[in-house]
Amino acid sequence: MTSKTQFDLVVLGGGPGGYVAAIRAAQLGLNTAIIDDNERFGGTCLRIGCIPSKALLESSHLYETVRHELGAHGIDAGHPSFDLKRMLARKDEIVNTLTGGINMLLKRNKVTALVGRGRFAKEHEIEIAGRDSGTVTAKNIIIATGSLPAILPGIEFDGKWIGDSTTALAYDPPPQELIVIGAGYIGLELGSVWRRLGSRVTVLEAMDRILPGLDGEMAKLAHRAFEKQGLSFLTGMFVESARVENGRCVVKCKGQEPLSADHVLVCTGRTPNTRGIGLEAIGVVPDKRGAIVVDRNFQTTTPGVFAIGDCIGGAMLAHKASEEGIACVEKLATGHGHVNYDAIPAIVYTHPEIATVGKTEEQLTEAGVAYRKGVCPYGANGRARTLGDVTGRVKILADATTDRILGVHAIGLHAGDLIAEATMAMNFHASAEDLARTCHAHPTLSEIVMEAALAVSGRAIHT
Ligand SMILES: Cc1cc2nc3c(=O)[nH]c(=O)nc-3n(C[C@H](O)[C@H](O)[C@H](O)COP(=O)(O)OP(=O)(O)OC[C@H]3O[C@@H](n4cnc5c(N)ncnc54)[C@H](O)[C@@H]3O)c2cc1C
Repeated sequence: MTSKTQFDLVVLGGGPGGYVAAIRAAQLGLNTAIIDDNERFGGTCLRIGCIPSKALLESSHLYETVRHELGAHGIDAGHPSFDLKRMLARKDEIVNTLTGGINMLLKRNKVTALVGRGRFAKEHEIEIAGRDSGTVTAKNIIIATGSLPAILPGIEFDGKWIGDSTTALAYDPPPQELIVIGAGYIGLELGSVWRRLGSRVTVLEAMDRILPGLDGEMAKLAHRAFEKQGLSFLTGMFVESARVENGRCVVKCKGQEPLSADHVLVCTGRTPNTRGIGLEAIGVVPDKRGAIVVDRNFQTTTPGVFAIGDCIGGAMLAHKASEEGIACVEKLATGHGHVNYDAIPAIVYTHPEIATVGKTEEQLTEAGVAYRKGVCPYGANGRARTLGDVTGRVKILADATTDRILGVHAIGLHAGDLIAEATMAMNFHASAEDLARTCHAHPTLSEIVMEAALAVSGRAIHT
């Protein structure tokens, strides 16, 4: 493509925000093009984020299960070992299958997929440099350029010994000693993978707790569980520098003795990817964190230019990006579209899993909202016993006056699946009573949610 091509809508960025927006727009009859600088569409999530990390979490968890948990079932698996190359190849295969699937979906929906680096030349016009060099114009343009790892000053990032999550998706061999900077979900997931595969892992966190932002009780339980598994945590650690010295990574924290390891994984958050896309050419000025500011219709300060997903900040999650993509194009095409920011679930895919939706206890207390709490431990659930893992609990927070569910927090086996029901309930403004009066199949882990809902009004049967 070398000439100027006109579309109804052009989406810049082919991640879960961009590709979902493009497909929905095409379904709604808009002549749509999508641009990504990688010929495998799917963005951070599919290529170097959600999917490859979960593939490694699953393989490493299976290895740990076979080593430590089969004995309780009377199964002797001998002395299992793992082949890292095959494990990594399996991860890559999953990524290739899924990204290939996105390219097919775009084709099937008649979305024009363009490969190259896009940059605004002026309003309604993007120049592409790469395989599909040229210029595209459109009445409406959605920016969905995602985010990049945030690197602290003083960290001498080399992408190998001192690297980010992408580096940590392909260590080979496993690090002997790994320092993870940042106890957020990415650091904990990838730290867990390599601990299971034999690395000695130390997680450094500047705050006085892990998983900042998550419900404090859940974070405390997680901290305890991870320590039991062998992850070491050092909280209140302000990293001042990390560099390779004489073949070792040396990390210096304020007021502490230096620490050293053979690899450092920097997981200090992500920053909106909004540089170098020509925002200045269209008069869009990002905020001081680099995020594009949008209104309720996802429109930037420039009419006809919209932005969604990680590049507008907020929860940097794939499903939030997709929700925004759909809402944005539905508003454009039909005048209606909506994202319920009160009911965006978030999951940490460690073992135990941690899942959350809605307000935490800390947020409710700070806002002065009176709430009632119902808790059910996994230990009270028959299915959890048969599955052989009773670590964890589900907690439901409901408005003290109306009983409306305000937040649900879970830690334990398949917590990420349990949260779907809670999210649905919150989307329909359900009360704890609604959940409690819904018949749940027995024996299932979902009964823990029902019991927690019963516990809100002091009527739990099994605790
Ligand atoms: C290790 C890791 C694990 C994660 N796990 C989860 C998880 O379990 N669940 C979850 O919900 N989220 C997870 N995330 C976060 C998730 O990946 C992001 O929130 C999500 O990908 C954001 O989607 P997006 O469409 O906004 O942007 P992205 O997925 O980042 O996509 C943006 C795309 O735009 C392209 N692009 C950028 N600039 C240009 C340009 N100028 N021209 C052309 N193309 C451009 C990029 O190459 C990229 O393909 C994880 C992230 C990481 C790093």
